[in-house]
Amino acid sequence: MNRLHPETICLYGGYTPHNGEPRQIPIIQSTTYKYDTSEAMGKLFDLEAEGYFYTRLQNPTNDAVAERITALEGGVAGMLTASGQAANLYAIVNLCGAGDHVVSSTAVYGGTFNLFDVTLRRLGIDFTFVNPDCSEDELAAAFRPNTRAVFGETIANPALTVLDIEKFAAAAHAHGVPLIVDNTFATPINCRPFEFGCDIVTHSTTKYMDGHAAAVGGAIVDSGNFDWMAHADKFPGLTTPDESYHGKTYAVDFGRKGFITKATAHLMRDLGAIPAPQNAFLLGLGLETLALRMERHCANAQQVAGFLERHPKVSWVNYPGLKSSPYYALAQKYMPHGTCGVISFGVTGGREAAVRFMDALQLASIVTHVADSKTCVLHPASTTHRQMNDAQLEAAGVRPDLVRLSVGIEHVDDILSDLAQALERA
Ligand code: PLP
Repeated sequence: MNRLHPETICLYGGYTPHNGEPRQIPIIQSTTYKYDTSEAMGKLFDLEAEGYFYTRLQNPTNDAVAERITALEGGVAGMLTASGQAANLYAIVNLCGAGDHVVSSTAVYGGTFNLFDVTLRRLGIDFTFVNPDCSEDELAAAFRPNTRAVFGETIANPALTVLDIEKFAAAAHAHGVPLIVDNTFATPINCRPFEFGCDIVTHSTTKYMDGHAAAVGGAIVDSGNFDWMAHADKFPGLTTPDESYHGKTYAVDFGRKGFITKATAHLMRDLGAIPAPQNAFLLGLGLETLALRMERHCANAQQVAGFLERHPKVSWVNYPGLKSSPYYALAQKYMPHGTCGVISFGVTGGREAAVRFMDALQLASIVTHVADSKTCVLHPASTTHRQMNDAQLEAAGVRPDLVRLSVGIEHVDDILSDLAQALERA
């Protein structure tokens, strides 16, 4: 058969039932797995044989769903994590230790910014934040001899800046380090960052992938393209023997799967942020309709963005699918079939008017969540990004009056009439 289309991978990726087996990915709700001999189990502990022994490291339900996401992204190996936060933490810590440095876009999710700027800094990993729209020279100037990775979001939450993936990948590779892209908002339905030189993709699967506000989760996928051994001195964790696994060298013994093998065998073993198999099952169900839902999210958001742009009570609209967006050209390049369902805008009258507007909504609900089947709305400056000062908000592209509207898959007329009546009362 030819390579399957994303719509088909959403349904079949990662799980092929054989004769008489369950049609749906089974939930293997077991912490552990039985072996006939100690020797057989010992081989698993030495990474000499493949197999399950303890769900903190691997579980068949989780693996099937991870494989579906890996296939959607076009990678060679992937893993699930308990949250998107854990996915980004693991992606960085799999490469960096105290004394290392990362170049990150300023336009990232507030929780990611905090993880980098506060928690990982405290553990000795340093960060330089760069404006995603910076020139190639400015980007190059952010690197240091101890830089180990570059990080950005395909479409930033909530700034909605579009990352110039090729520019960031070229800079990363020129300095011998990989580019990690958080592809949560675009999803692999709209953008596959590996096709533009990105090396590792992360996700908060809590968003569109799950799609139903049911399960917090994350994923990491490796393209398998970065040559760790060519930069062996930078990544000793991948390129020198791991004595806790009897001297296995991940990048040598597991080749293109070395990065994910290390993140599973080492980080999951030591840090343990695994998703429950039940949550992985819900994620697998959500993925079945991801392509359909993304199409509707984008079509609805395009209409809503146009409506807001024409509305007299709206002072500005930011949506990368609008021709007025400074990111329209980048969006067309990286996501020609649609970007995401998230729009940000300002209500005329500033912060107070924005709050009146949100309180008047009847269909759309005020929730912390985003990228969900049901339309929802949030004021980031007073919630998700409240730990940032005004300068940090500005750098992250979050205005104090910014309303983040996550357009769902309801009938678009119902969304539009709700927005219209709430704007009247703003
Ligand atoms: N990355 C992005 C782009 C996000 O929007 C979020 C959460 O909103 C995260 C990561 C963190 O994911 P989670 O909430 O699943 O931990």
